[in-house]
Amino acid sequence: MLRWEDVPTPTPGPGEVIVQVHAVSVNRTLDLQVRQDGGNYGVTLPLVLGVDPSGVIVDVGQSVEQPQVNDRVTIFGGVRCGSCQQCMAGNPRGCLSPRMLGVQCWGGYAEYLRIPASNCVPVPDGLPFAHATVITRHFPLAFGECSLADLKPGD
Ligand SMILES: [Zn+2]
Repeated sequence: MLRWEDVPTPTPGPGEVIVQVHAVSVNRTLDLQVRQDGGNYGVTLPLVLGVDPSGVIVDVGQSVEQPQVNDRVTIFGGVRCGSCQQCMAGNPRGCLSPRMLGVQCWGGYAEYLRIPASNCVPVPDGLPFAHATVITRHFPLAFGECSLADLKPGD
């Protein structure tokens, strides 16, 4: 069951930021299937759904240099654990236990989202948050497909 509920406003830990959410996607697989039967994603309830949120940074934790308060960001959905061998070695993209934002950890169907600063991607001033959210969802797949095609500049 999906319902509106008040929860405490999150506070950032070291390396984390708080995003005031302005846009979030409604994804067929990552929202509807998870709501229907969990989608075999290892969902733990209670859960705040919501992938691909975009918004404004309202607070930053210790050791966060970027982004800063008032920066516009969209959120990369692969949340690194921060404690595995790869994360501790400064290679978060090689994380051994990544979680999916809005599926395996609380997502963007909320006023505020706590997320590692490394998940934030800057959003230019002229780009609406809804557009940034859609780009966040679809750009990685398109980019990956172009990489598979071995495209080079000028192709
Ligand atoms: Zn990790």
